[in-house]
Formats: sequence, structure tokens, C-alpha cells
Amino acid sequence: GLELRKIVKNFGAVEVIRDVSLHVNDGEFVAFVGPSGCGKSTLLRLIAGLDKPTGGSIAIDGKDVTAISAADRGLAMVFQSYALYPHMSVRENLAFGLENTKVAKAEIEARITDAARMLEIEPFLQRRPGQLSGGQRQRVAIGRAIVRRPDAFLLDEPLSNLDAELRVSMRAELAALHARLKATMIYVTHDQVEAMTLADRIVVLRGGRIEQVGTPLELYNKPANRFVAGFIGAPH
Ligand code: ATP
Ligand code: MG
Repeated sequence: GLELRKIVKNFGAVEVIRDVSLHVNDGEFVAFVGPSGCGKSTLLRLIAGLDKPTGGSIAIDGKDVTAISAADRGLAMVFQSYALYPHMSVRENLAFGLENTKVAKAEIEARITDAARMLEIEPFLQRRPGQLSGGQRQRVAIGRAIVRRPDAFLLDEPLSNLDAELRVSMRAELAALHARLKATMIYVTHDQVEAMTLADRIVVLRGGRIEQVGTPLELYNKPANRFVAGFIGAPH
């Protein structure tokens, strides 16, 4: 499991994350929702071990993330900015980092084929990221995480750049993927439908604090306040 204990994060004098505690079970699908600037991406970066909290601790299976090497954390992050390698083809972007591991070449190929089909990016495998649309790039970024078969996915608004039709089909693909891989998913989204339909639990953030944590049904039926109700789309 993943354990956040009293996380605080300051940038200079500004407190961006304030006293966030949360336990995420293995295999759980947790959505982070909240307004722009509330600290969702910052929290993901902290969980990924890419940045250190000012206070508090983050543990994976009882071990502090910062004490585990990046390769052994078992995490794959999809960044809001995609962070693809511009000088590599899509195929190379997907394979990067897998090639010098224990994973066999044939297995890498199989995973790439599988992810490319699921994400509908097969026609673009030879192109570079600069030759793709924003939504195509976004799907490559998701693919790069999928082929790693991580224990946990950290997804920062992974479907935000897709048209409505593709978003609905990718939502279903991600749900199927979660069921198939049984990986933990931490999923940042602005889309309340996405959070309500995909997540086991939803974490509502505001101003760096957790307003409420609960199942979609709990938040819908018993929102802690008008802010949560408004964000979830519940009557209030
Ligand atoms: P969005 O929905 O727009 O992506 P978010 O919830 O992901 O927003 P964060 O990116 O986590 O928000 O940012 C939270 C706050 O921290 C913002 O006020 C942002 O300006 C600030 N912030 C983020 N990164 C830094 C940084 N490196 N230095 C200073 N301030 C930062
Ligand atoms: Mg963000």
C-alpha cells in the first residue's frame, strides 16, 4: 500500500500542500479532483519521489519512497505535459528504459503492440512526438506508462486533450486495463464523470488540503460541504 502521512509542501513561503494524509490500498483506483492550482500535480510528483515533501512522509509498502531507487519504486507517471523524448520515434519512446532490463525483446514488442492497439496509436509508431497532435502525444505518454507494467500508475489528467468520443473509449480502456493489470491507479482529473465512473475512492482537494475522501456514492450522497457537492455535481 501507499501511505501519505501529514504531507506538507512549501514553495518558498507558500504552503501548497497542507497536512495531507491518505492511505491507498494495492490495486485501488483513487481519483484526485479539485480546482486548478489546488496541488494535484504537486502531490503526484511527491508520491513519485520526484520532489521531497517539506514535512511528513510517503511510504510504499512501509518503505520511505526516497529510500527506494527510482527503478525499484514500481511507479509509472503520465505527466500533464507528457514529457516525451522529442528526438525519438513513438516506438522508441515506448521502449525507452525497458531495453536494458530483464524484459525480453519479444515481450517488449508484444507490450508495445498491445498498448498501441489499445490507444489507437499504431499508425504513428515511426513518427516523432513533434509530428503528432496533442491528443496523440497524450496517448503515447499513457502507452509509455502501460508498457512498464508498474505496480502503480500516477496519471495526471491523462485524457484531458482528447475529443469527447475518444475520451469515452479511453476511459473504458483504462478501466479494463486496471481490471486486467490489477495495478494501483492514482488519477488526477478535472472531469467529474471520469472520477465518478472510474474511481473506487475520490479525494477532493482545495487549497492544498483534503476536503473529503470517499467512494463516489458517499461523496454524491453525503458531500461534506457545498464545495464538494459542487465539484462532484451532487445536488446541494
Ligand atoms: P492544475 O489543475 O492547473 O494542473 P494543480 O492542482 O495540478 O493545478 P499544482 O501544479 O500542483 O496544481 O500547483 C499547486 C500550486 O503550487 C500552484 O499555486 C502553483 O503555482 C504552485 N507551484 C507548483 N509548482 C511550483 C514550483 N516549482 N515553484 C513554485 N510554485 C509552484
Ligand atoms: Mg496539475
